[in-house]
Amino acid sequence: MSARVRLNGDMVEFKCPGCGWVHSVNIDRESKPCWGFNGDVEKPTITPSINAWREYGGSRETERCHSFVTDGTIRFLGDCTHDLKGKTVDLPDIAEST
Ligand SMILES: [Zn+2]
Repeated sequence: MSARVRLNGDMVEFKCPGCGWVHSVNIDRESKPCWGFNGDVEKPTITPSINAWREYGGSRETERCHSFVTDGTIRFLGDCTHDLKGKTVDLPDIAEST
């Protein structure tokens, strides 16, 4: 069995094939912000979109990764700064990487 997301307490984590980071979102409704998760680690759906960025300051450009996870795939929006922007790909298996 494969798992595309990993549960870590109240967080759902996945390895992002676009920016290479591990994104984690909170699914505990007592905390904000809170995302919806369908509970399926093989075909996860997470709503709403995941918008992550890193600011480096100086002349280095801010990196942004904005995505929708739907049914085990990840769709990157056009405002991403990596090569997969505007594309939809399968979410990789996270079980192999720790
Ligand atoms: Zn990403």
